[in-house]
Amino acid sequence: MRPPTSKLLRAWLSPVHVRQQDGDTYLEFDADGDGHVDYVQRLRGGYKDRLIFGGGVCGKVVERPAVVQDGRPVVFLLLDGVAFERIGGLYASGRFRLFRPPARVISVFPTLTDPAYDLLFRTGPTPGFEPGYFDRGRNRSTGAIWDYLRGANEAWVRFTDYRLRFIEDAVMYLLPRWVFALELRRARRVVDDRLRAGRQRVAIYLLSTDGLGHMLEASEIDRELLRLDEWIERLVYDYRGLLELVLVSDHGLSQLPPEQAPVRRFNLHKILRDNGLRMQARLRRPGDVVLPQFGLLDVARVHTFDEETREKVVETLRARPEVEFVAARDAQCVRVYRGSQVAVVSARGGAKGDLLYSYHAESGDPLELAGAVAQLREAGLMSADGHATAAAWLRASAGLPFPSAPQRLWQAFFVVSREQPDVIVCLTKCWYVGSGLLSGFVKMWGTHGGLHRRASETFAMATNVDFPAVMDLDLLRCQLREWFGWPA
Ligand SMILES: [Zn+2]
Repeated sequence: MRPPTSKLLRAWLSPVHVRQQDGDTYLEFDADGDGHVDYVQRLRGGYKDRLIFGGGVCGKVVERPAVVQDGRPVVFLLLDGVAFERIGGLYASGRFRLFRPPARVISVFPTLTDPAYDLLFRTGPTPGFEPGYFDRGRNRSTGAIWDYLRGANEAWVRFTDYRLRFIEDAVMYLLPRWVFALELRRARRVVDDRLRAGRQRVAIYLLSTDGLGHMLEASEIDRELLRLDEWIERLVYDYRGLLELVLVSDHGLSQLPPEQAPVRRFNLHKILRDNGLRMQARLRRPGDVVLPQFGLLDVARVHTFDEETREKVVETLRARPEVEFVAARDAQCVRVYRGSQVAVVSARGGAKGDLLYSYHAESGDPLELAGAVAQLREAGLMSADGHATAAAWLRASAGLPFPSAPQRLWQAFFVVSREQPDVIVCLTKCWYVGSGLLSGFVKMWGTHGGLHRRASETFAMATNVDFPAVMDLDLLRCQLREWFGWPA
């Protein structure tokens, strides 16, 4: 098979002339390669607000005001694992300027595709954090590969018009660039088919951006994302500017600097076993634990036979240098342990029927939220018993190491998935867990799954509207519905 080439990159990302006029920049292109300018983009305030097809004074002008307009079809591109940092950096360097600036989106926890898109599309709760999960009620694990291949964990996919064939997913991690180029070509065909059929909303899910994020270093990821920018430029050109795009991603992805890469495998099985715990398929007696593993992630969940077993897991892991923190489900709360530091996260109903969340540090400040707590108190956004809304926590903690930690931890244990593990372990950025087929022969530059900002912070942007600067997936869904009537 011949890898797809991208000979158009020069044509669509490199104007033949750039000129300044009245404070605006004009990018002039020779789209058909005949030596004459036939396409002009006006860049005003960093945004391509006017497209001129045919060039010259008699070209057809298409205005692109930054407002929602009825009538234009919208293409939604759902990416996988593209961190805000990547798109924000490319935008700052002048790319993706058919779009308004990217907004930060704090994903769900665990920072995994199915829980994230299930939350965005309201198709949750997700059966398991990942395919192949422990079903507590039946005291058995489901088959990971079987779940995966039949898409059992991906209810949200029915809202999309394109997804890579499941059988190709594994290839994607081995040849991420090749599969990405393949996906872009296929996606274009799907967009053309749907628009030709008169559809006003087309949704494309590009899985291979996750492969790029795991397997490539930052500069290489950016080079691949330029292909996406090129793909978008070409699409807008071919439809003569009369369509809009929305670009979002599901979660972030860590990125180790070259001197620390690759991410190393943390042998969670062995450490638990060495401390007297038994890895089992079912929970039958004290000391039994079930540890479902599928992807290569910086998060793991553990199901334990009883409270004593749960405490033993926590004590085994909380002081390990590879472990960022351990969280355990208690009757009415989540307890967070990081070395000797301990905090309690809880939730209760608010006056408007929503949930309010609290974070009480018992010793130290394991999730580094003291500043956010002080800010919420000062602003009068925290009740006397220490609870605040999810929106208030989001605003107060979006820039901190563990953004929106109270509600995201709570949701991970009780809301987003039917799996509801007893313990969740997050690793520091140098480590991953996973026993999948891939772990023997892949070298990863980054991963996700954990609560930390590096895996949580992703983005959303649109060609015609400005999203609020910081959103969670609930707010993103509300905005998409309000502006685009999607997802229906
Ligand atoms: Zn991934």
